[in-house]
Amino acid sequence: MTLFPGEKPEYSTEQPPAASDSTERRLEVSLSEKEKYVTAGCLYCDGSNRFHGKAAASWELLDGMDEVQRTSLFSQLLKTAIYRAVLRSGRERPVWGALTGVRPGKLMTPMLQKGFTGAQAVRQFERTYDVSHERALLCLETARQTLRCEAELGEKDICLYIGIPFCPTRCAYCSFVSQSVEKSMGMIPPFLDALYREIDAVSQQVDRLGLRVVSVYMGGGTPTTLSAVQMEELFRHLRGGFELDALREITVEAGRPDTITEEKVLTMSQNGVTRVSVNPQSMTDSVLEAIGRRHSAEDIRRALRMVREGGNFSVNMDLIAGLPTDSRESFCCSLDEVMALEPENITVHTLSIKRGARLHFGEKTLPGPAEVADMLDYANARLSAAGFSPYYLYRQKNMSGGFENIGWSRPGHENIYNICIMEELRSILAMGAGGSTKLIRPDGGRNARMVAPKYPTEYIEAIDRLCTEKEKITAFYQQ
Ligand code: SF4
Repeated sequence: MTLFPGEKPEYSTEQPPAASDSTERRLEVSLSEKEKYVTAGCLYCDGSNRFHGKAAASWELLDGMDEVQRTSLFSQLLKTAIYRAVLRSGRERPVWGALTGVRPGKLMTPMLQKGFTGAQAVRQFERTYDVSHERALLCLETARQTLRCEAELGEKDICLYIGIPFCPTRCAYCSFVSQSVEKSMGMIPPFLDALYREIDAVSQQVDRLGLRVVSVYMGGGTPTTLSAVQMEELFRHLRGGFELDALREITVEAGRPDTITEEKVLTMSQNGVTRVSVNPQSMTDSVLEAIGRRHSAEDIRRALRMVREGGNFSVNMDLIAGLPTDSRESFCCSLDEVMALEPENITVHTLSIKRGARLHFGEKTLPGPAEVADMLDYANARLSAAGFSPYYLYRQKNMSGGFENIGWSRPGHENIYNICIMEELRSILAMGAGGSTKLIRPDGGRNARMVAPKYPTEYIEAIDRLCTEKEKITAFYQQ
């Protein structure tokens, strides 16, 4: 889909027409096992033009692999064969080459652990996956941050996630299915009651297993949609449930500036919050309007002043490249303006249009991949020159141009939670709507996942089951 953006594949079982008669685009793939090699082949027909691609692995490489690893390797070979055939047709080379998957760092970090130098790891990325030199270098920097973070984590360290599924209004590109407060104000108290039950259930497991909470991340939704009193109560429940002596950070997403008040900032400060995320996405008013945010760039500046004056927080600000009606110029201005506000973290996302998102832009134009590439190039160069380093990165499906999201940080302000979740360093125990608990096996074995419903109503209805399910945490760790 990176090579054929916007197209809808059809998987035909019929005999294809002779190449000379065809006007359609078609891929034929094969996987053959011979004595020495497993070979994937691809024939790409574009009308009467034909292009071939091949990728092979020796049987020796497959020795000792289990079924899952073999299937994954075969899949990689097929992808590489398709990639090579399609690129021969003259299609533009994607910046991440033939690399698919959400976490490129999961391939880079093991190379460094095996003793590869940075240059060797970058070369391997370029050769094996045809990743561009710039992207391979970005990935190398984040892999180094991962290793630094890992070195400071203990075996029993874990992170907590709290999902608050409410926002003042819903952004056009939202895929979190959070409820707008206008419609669901009445849902907040019963939702919090259910959340407190889940906090109790999880904290019992943590206590029993002697796990150490090092990071808490409150996301959603927008947690600051809660009132100051509700936030205070939530912090009280967290402190009452969990032993927080080893805690190194608490992040609260205050993404929407229209939810930030002096009282809430004070509540966060008094409850040990270390990092607040104020997310403009764009500093251009017309773009903010186009994506359904009911606030202006001035509201962001006002909210940020309030956060700075109210506590000693690390501040993160998110921007998105590729928003409707945005242009290279206005994106670059947004970045410059955000940098002038001097946050410690800046996260640069690429717009990902997911199914389920209410993003029907109608007449509104979306910047094309080449323009998004220019936006990201500008951001990468500007942030590096200003002393920020990339500390985590990930990719999503349906991303404009197949690019990535990058978390940039001033030295010493890297967020442990973001690294842990992206690089799967430690278990994340999630509570609240849309929370995804991920239990990580330190030996690289299969991890376990438990996902809570996204909507408050479904979450409340499922709370008995969610609490009972938490027994699996103990079972997992005892294994
Ligand atoms: S702030 Fe985030 S979670 Fe809330 S509606 Fe917008 S995109 Fe969705």
